Amino acid sequence: MELTAKDFIEYYKEIVSMIEKEKDYLCELDRKLGDGDHGVTMSIGWQAIDEKLEGELASEEDCGKINISVGKTFLSAVGSSVGPLYATGFLRGAKAVKNKSVVNDADLAAFWIAFAKGVKERGQAEVGDKTMIDTLEPFFIKLEESFDATADFPSAFAEGVVAGEEGMKSTKDIVSKKGRSSRLGERSIGAQDPGATSAHLILKSFQNFIEV
Ligand code: ADP
Ligand code: MG
Ligand code: MG
Repeated sequence: MELTAKDFIEYYKEIVSMIEKEKDYLCELDRKLGDGDHGVTMSIGWQAIDEKLEGELASEEDCGKINISVGKTFLSAVGSSVGPLYATGFLRGAKAVKNKSVVNDADLAAFWIAFAKGVKERGQAEVGDKTMIDTLEPFFIKLEESFDATADFPSAFAEGVVAGEEGMKSTKDIVSKKGRSSRLGERSIGAQDPGATSAHLILKSFQNFIEV
């Protein structure tokens, strides 16, 4: 498959509206585990990105530059722990699509693997710590393995999303070992991690975007 810079912009606009829809749900999850702001945090970041998408990025042809701007804008708009985490993801992804106005299957696989590995490197969380890494690590492992075997990006991505979703669901019944919710200890059992949830929603939106 091929995606253009315009497609990237369209996908990011889908995220902007998806986050507005899921804002209350993400805050509700964070009320059980943290300070209740995850939906607001994500909304602040994506609203700032939306301004760029409508403004200086509207006619940008370089997929790399679009993703650099998305990462930097998220970082400067968001004060909470996810600011540098997602920002690193988009900035690492940007390198995989640098100077490209059109990207192919291999570029997209490289983009998403770099995105997820970037977040992991930045946050230093392990699977089982009850963070967005519980979604992103099984996702990138499955994507990488499946794309290596088939070179078919859409199906490899879909398999990655399923693996990530299972990881997201697994956060419900485990104790948090990273971030604000780790202060709750055993009391963190019983609620799904908000960051694992937003990470899944971002991936799922991309799957929906490329499947239409
Ligand atoms: P804050 O806790 O600063 O209010 P948010 O509520 O926006 O930040 O985001 C909380 C989410 O951040 C958590 O649900 C978790 O998934 C994620 N998170 C926190 N620390 C880390 C980390 N070191 N690595 C990966 N994800 C993390
Ligand atoms: Mg929070
Ligand atoms: Mg906060």
